[in-house]
Amino acid sequence: MEPTESAPATSNITVLRGEPLVVISDVDKHYGDLHVLKKINAVVNRGEVVVVIGPSGSGKSTLCRAINRLETIDAGVITIDGVKLPDEGKDLARLRADVGMVFQAFNLFAHKTVLENVTLGPIKVRGLSKADAEKKAMVLLERVGVANQAKKMPAQLSGGQQQRVAIARALAMDPKVILLDEPTSALDPEMINEVLEVMIDLASDGMTMIVVTHEMGFARKAADRVIFMAEGEIVEETTPEKFFTNPQSTRAKDFLSKIL
Ligand code: ADP
Ligand code: MG
Repeated sequence: MEPTESAPATSNITVLRGEPLVVISDVDKHYGDLHVLKKINAVVNRGEVVVVIGPSGSGKSTLCRAINRLETIDAGVITIDGVKLPDEGKDLARLRADVGMVFQAFNLFAHKTVLENVTLGPIKVRGLSKADAEKKAMVLLERVGVANQAKKMPAQLSGGQQQRVAIARALAMDPKVILLDEPTSALDPEMINEVLEVMIDLASDGMTMIVVTHEMGFARKAADRVIFMAEGEIVEETTPEKFFTNPQSTRAKDFLSKIL
């Protein structure tokens, strides 16, 4: 949290001073004996892009899933725009839709067309008419560069195209924040950039984003802040520039020596 106070007005992290949108307070979680999240505290402000980075198994995905209430927590509180997601009930789907999710494995509905993938949530959860949902979906599919694939089934698309559809699907719900968990890790190398470009475009458009990624290029270009996690803890939190050039902790240094 320290950068909020110490950032000079001229730095690119002045946006840190935006109002808190995602607030994670003292979040703890175990899987049986495994202490997977250890008193996590973090704030993501409106319009901010935060990259979460760290070794495999450090709890990054669990944290993302907890933010969207796909995972329960043992202790602590997570609020989105001041609202704590309920454990269940009719408000859960509506509130959960405020947090767009994009996963490593695309997770599109295999038996629905690309267009249906993007219209389903807005129709069911946001109450849009089919016509309005389709109009909106086409604008979003255009934006991520796959409008000409709208009538196809997901399996007919490349991985990069599927992931861009997944991003359009998340955006179709008008989320307050979008969470992307290793969105390019399952892609063939030649498709990584087309997805990163869409993400960079979203970031420059002011979308609040939490992105688990090891793509340093994305972090440097688009992130206001990097959160480094190891063994269920936030070990470092700083600007991408500082993190990649001058990591403070031994764990971050070790990690970077392996990925760079
Ligand atoms: P990361 O995304 O940083 O690789 P995860 O959040 O996926 O880490 O996992 C953190 C730890 O929790 C890992 O040791 C993983 O094996 C364990 N874990 C994740 N999901 C489950 C689960 N559903 N049940 C038991 N252990 C899990
Ligand atoms: Mg993960």
